[in-house]
Amino acid sequence: MERLTSKEEVRQAVLAARRERKRVALVPTMGALHAGHLSLVQAACTRADYVAVSIFVNPTQFGPGEDFEAYPRDVERDIELLRAEGADLVFTPTTEVMYSPDAQVTIDPGPAGDVWEGAVRPGHFAGVCTVVAKLFGIVTPDLAFFGEKDFQQLVIVRRMVRDLDMAVKVVGCPVVREPDGLALSSRNAYLSGDERVAATVLYHALRSAETLALGGEHDASVLAEAMRSIITAEPLASLDYAAVVDPVTLAPVSTLEGPARAIVAARVGATRLIDNLQLVPGA
Ligand code: AMP
Repeated sequence: MERLTSKEEVRQAVLAARRERKRVALVPTMGALHAGHLSLVQAACTRADYVAVSIFVNPTQFGPGEDFEAYPRDVERDIELLRAEGADLVFTPTTEVMYSPDAQVTIDPGPAGDVWEGAVRPGHFAGVCTVVAKLFGIVTPDLAFFGEKDFQQLVIVRRMVRDLDMAVKVVGCPVVREPDGLALSSRNAYLSGDERVAATVLYHALRSAETLALGGEHDASVLAEAMRSIITAEPLASLDYAAVVDPVTLAPVSTLEGPARAIVAARVGATRLIDNLQLVPGA
């Protein structure tokens, strides 16, 4: 596995892979890798012949007062994990390499970037879209792998690729969870012992909506209210939102007529956590 830090080196490495007619995959990450990230790398290895992983804590997707400085970083460990998974290339650019100081053009994610996470984190999805578009431009992957953990991000990236005719296939991968249901996240490292226990409330809320839906409750406001009451009952958690949304538009649904997505966000202590689950209407 090669570790490269410049765009030009990455372009050359991908060109060499293409000359061998290899199918190229990209897995964009911010590092501090865990089994959720590695599941994307595993999926990429089964679907492509040349797997590139980027590790870049992208400053433009963090707002003022967010955790950009504190975000966990351990590139040496990440590289060992990626080597063990059989990745071919890890791209670890600095901010100066990624962004020229006079860069001006960014990608507007459209209205889907202003709701849910976007409402709480203004500019976040413009930062995500811009860095993902840049990574697509550098690596020119045939396939790009994203986790359903960041469901809104996956929806917006799919939309960007469709609306801007980018020649890449976006592959979504299921959420990887701890045995007690907590979705793996680099930010779980911020949780204290008590907070770690309390953090499972997001998953419990989602599962209760799933159970109600399967039991025949199709009124989305009842499902959302069930999730809200479970999260607000946890003293260490403070709810941002709990909703049932259309999986393509992210607009709230009123009645569960087909597959929908339950989405939740809450602060547990000082740590903001998000999670989601597919809801299928029962008989
Ligand atoms: P991040 O490093 O947080 O930007 O995440 C990089 C990629 O890993 C994104 O596509 C995330 O959705 C995905 N990811 C993060 N956590 C998980 C998880 N628990 N299960 C599946 N994918 C994940």
